[in-house]
Amino acid sequence: KQVLSDRITSLPASATLAMAAKARELKSAGKDIISLSLGEPDFNTPDYIKDAAIQAINDNYNSYSPVDGYVELKEAISLKFKRDNNLDYKPSQIVVSTGAKQSLANITQVLLNPGDEVLLPAPYWVSYSALGILGGATFKEIPSTIENDFKITPAQLEEAISPKTKIVFFNSPNNPSGTVYTEEDYRALAAVLEKYPDIYIVSDEIYEHINYGTPNFSIACIPSMYDRTITVNGLAKAFAMTGWRIGYIGAPEWIAKACTKMQGQITSGTNCIAQRAAITALTEPVSRIQYMVVEFEKRRNMMLELLGEIEGFKLNVPKGAFYIFPDVSAFIGKTIKGHAINSAADFSMLLLEEANVATVSGEDFGAPTCIRISYAASEAQLREAVARIKAVLS
Ligand code: PLP
Repeated sequence: KQVLSDRITSLPASATLAMAAKARELKSAGKDIISLSLGEPDFNTPDYIKDAAIQAINDNYNSYSPVDGYVELKEAISLKFKRDNNLDYKPSQIVVSTGAKQSLANITQVLLNPGDEVLLPAPYWVSYSALGILGGATFKEIPSTIENDFKITPAQLEEAISPKTKIVFFNSPNNPSGTVYTEEDYRALAAVLEKYPDIYIVSDEIYEHINYGTPNFSIACIPSMYDRTITVNGLAKAFAMTGWRIGYIGAPEWIAKACTKMQGQITSGTNCIAQRAAITALTEPVSRIQYMVVEFEKRRNMMLELLGEIEGFKLNVPKGAFYIFPDVSAFIGKTIKGHAINSAADFSMLLLEEANVATVSGEDFGAPTCIRISYAASEAQLREAVARIKAVLS
């Protein structure tokens, strides 16, 4: 007999699981699968950060750390917020966690009550909806289109707000679309939020450095938003440190305190060696990781050019992160190589089975006519992948 909690059974299963399972099955059957489905850089962690971790081990950093992170790390994060975002967060407003994912889990656990509603400007990172549900909330998607560069409008935001709305999630640069909200965009959205003082804003800025020229803007820089915003960031993406598990928030002190209380009962302070390395990563100039951004931008441009040659892919120009998010509606309703394509998931499965290229379909991101293609792969792999896709679709 299986007696799982309502909490876990209420979590919807991911639509991408079937795809991941199929990719594994094909791989183990000996197929040469090119995976463009991953959300992590294909670079190694830079040596100067690795050296700091090795030093930490030799310096015997092996004990429990403070729940909210080492003071020196929180001071480094405070300086980073000032340097990169023009934000004033004191160390008492900062909590370091096991990845930005735990930061987000803490926030939803400490702010949400059953019956609350979270707003998700779509497309959005899949975990926001799951974490909202685990917090007892329901979620409402605010749709966007590729024609509008996957941005929601202030009117849409206003329309979506209800008396139950507790949190709105923003994520710029965005996973999966690569969209960057500008200062002007955020000021217009903030003008709506100013009328609803009980709504909190979660601003996930984990891709901030992987940006191809649009100035980043933190919504917490708007004075009327500062006391209601939790700014989330982490080292996984820009520093090629996904497995190190360092995320952090800057927040009103009462929220930071609550997150520390929650984390203290669940995981305690995150890995002490990774924290010491994070001090170096965040203190050194950002220019030291720029070589990865330069490479990502080259690949983005190449992918836009190559995919642009395939009829039916509707593309925009992603301004950050390392994903292309084409609208594939043109293929929906067709039969290709004997596969009936009734959804983006069907299209993604077609690419997997016939081209042996793994992508992620947009349904789980709240964008059911799109697929996500990660270009965190070598140029040779990317060229080969697009050539295969083109062959299947022509
Ligand atoms: N936020 C976004 C938008 C992401 O894409 C990811 C990872 O895919 C995360 C947060 C999680 O980051 P971390 O690895 O630090 O938990």
